[in-house]
Amino acid sequence: MGVRGGDSYISGLKSHPKNVWVVGRKVVDVAGDPVFRRPVSAMAMLYDLQVDGELRPRMTYRDEDGAEAGLSFIIPRSRDDLVRRRDSMRVWADATFGLMGRSPDFLNTVLASWADAPEFFAEVGARFADNVQRYYRFCRDNDLFLTHTLVNPPVDRSKSASQQADEYAYLGIVKETGDGLIVRGAKMLATHGPTADELLVYPLPFSVRPGEEKYALAFAIPTDAPGLRFICREPFDLGDQSEWDHPLGSRFEEPDAVAVFDDVLIPWERVFLHGNVNLANTMFARTRVQCHTGHQTAVRGLAKCEFMTALAVALSRSVKTDGFMHVQEQLGECIGYLQLIEGAIVLSEQKAEVTKRGTYLPALEPLQALRYHIPRFYERMVRLTQVMGAGGLLANPTKADLDSEIGDDIRRYYRGADRDAEAKIHLSKLAWDATGTQFGQRQLQYERYYAGDPVRTGASIYTMSDQASLLALVERALGLSSDGAGRSDAKSWRPPS
Ligand SMILES: Cc1cc2nc3c(=O)[nH]c(=O)nc-3n(C[C@H](O)[C@H](O)[C@H](O)COP(=O)(O)OP(=O)(O)OC[C@H]3O[C@@H](n4cnc5c(N)ncnc54)[C@H](O)[C@@H]3O)c2cc1C
Repeated sequence: MGVRGGDSYISGLKSHPKNVWVVGRKVVDVAGDPVFRRPVSAMAMLYDLQVDGELRPRMTYRDEDGAEAGLSFIIPRSRDDLVRRRDSMRVWADATFGLMGRSPDFLNTVLASWADAPEFFAEVGARFADNVQRYYRFCRDNDLFLTHTLVNPPVDRSKSASQQADEYAYLGIVKETGDGLIVRGAKMLATHGPTADELLVYPLPFSVRPGEEKYALAFAIPTDAPGLRFICREPFDLGDQSEWDHPLGSRFEEPDAVAVFDDVLIPWERVFLHGNVNLANTMFARTRVQCHTGHQTAVRGLAKCEFMTALAVALSRSVKTDGFMHVQEQLGECIGYLQLIEGAIVLSEQKAEVTKRGTYLPALEPLQALRYHIPRFYERMVRLTQVMGAGGLLANPTKADLDSEIGDDIRRYYRGADRDAEAKIHLSKLAWDATGTQFGQRQLQYERYYAGDPVRTGASIYTMSDQASLLALVERALGLSSDGAGRSDAKSWRPPS
């Protein structure tokens, strides 16, 4: 099929009726439903950019067979491939101001990582390595939109999967059949589960305990698989939010859902791993998936942080507080974060590891640092934007009020230092939608948790680090000696080359 545009994505959704539940209703045609129409349109917009005549060369590449494919499916074989991939990811990220975390490029990098790790899947069994390769090509060649769901629902975090009161509180294997695995239970969160074509399920690092083989599994299924149901959180926009009053929430809301598997058959050709606790626990590390996903999430995070910084600048200018030095300091703090993020992305490319297969893996250390710090930078930016906007963020009437008989009052009392009342209200609404509305608060919660538990991410930065070279610094300082004149003896020390 090759790279898709938006219409192709929408017609694909329409030809696969789903089992999606939202505010007490079952939705089959998500593309035609008011709740999902806008998220689907936003995704279609991204696919349209991919086939846009001018952007197409930036968004696509030629695969090993010479066919055109979306650039995020690439297995990078040079530093230039990494830079090209970053550029295409940035186009998609900028199109939504970084507000759609689950744009298709995120999961495409997961598949590329797996396809590049056949030795790992061969340890599960030769056919599983073939399954992964075939599935990667199937998704790439049809340009499918994938999402994933990895996490067990928070029932009792002090207990393991088999210790939960309900044996299938967490997704597990019920039985193996000649056709495949029968699985039962729930996983969260599947952002875009209802609006994606395919769903990946695979284990978080060290999430499966020894003896709990039935919870060790990785597979992919279509989102319309029989027995699969998505239960959505309450939408913020039922499809009727004013685009003027909610400039972001009315356009870029991503549906979040719990995926419930009611004895779903996973055909053997869609199974990538099962029953092996050790492989399940080490899948992330050994397929090097975080190097590629971290590249995408950092690029998207940069776009989002830039947008938040831009909002802070525009807000302060609209009431001319940007001449005060403490406000300048706050804006400078945000702009400084952007430099740090961009620097770490480039560093990950410069320090890319070349594997024995000739793949360029962005260095994990700067990307893990960003996984940990972008949520903190972002949270700080949200806070500073709210502090700069202050009460003005909550003083705003609606477009309907502007257009009513009190419109002249509003035009008189709501103007800003650099713009008229209508423009100032619109800007304030944009800032509040980004930071304070349900949409804005989800954006914050998303950054905190989309990459898993931040406590464990932060701890892993320490446990993965080269502590020996750090400690050598301390030893060297403790061992300093001086000559008779009090000058430090540097003879035995040479700076790192
Ligand atoms: C808006 C949003 C969208 C998301 N979209 C997706 C998606 O599309 N796909 C996907 O797979 N995931 C997604 N996630 C991430 C996922 O759902 C989880 O939120 C994330 O992995 C963190 O897990 P948790 O929420 O269960 O928190 P927990 O892991 O339960 O952690 C909560 C707190 O309890 C502590 N804690 C819990 N267990 C332990 C333990 N054993 N030892 C020590 N401390 C512990 C943690 O330190 C933490 O502070 C999304 C999250 C959000 C918020």
